[in-house]
Amino acid sequence: MSNETVRVEEKLYQNRYIVDAGKPHISIEPHTTPSKNLLAMTKVCPAGCYAQNDVGQVEIVADGCLECGTCRILLEPTGEITWSYPRGGFGVLFKFG
Ligand code: SF4
Repeated sequence: MSNETVRVEEKLYQNRYIVDAGKPHISIEPHTTPSKNLLAMTKVCPAGCYAQNDVGQVEIVADGCLECGTCRILLEPTGEITWSYPRGGFGVLFKFG
């Protein structure tokens, strides 16, 4: 067994994304102060899609989304985000192996 350390960023770099320009498949409802769960997404999204802006609101750039569904489980039931899969032919292309 190898003791080689692999960083998650290196693994993510293997994936490819076909961006549906102008049609993001996840959007955040307007807010002034993010909820705890929305704020948590800046730490737990495995693709780093969520970030806080200068005034503390949470924004999303879904271009590198892995479609894992974490934010969907946390935030769709509360109405904080709208989530759908990308249209056919768009989104993440996973590289296995
Ligand atoms: S579905 Fe997963 S990868 Fe995509 S934005 Fe939500 S938490 Fe991040």
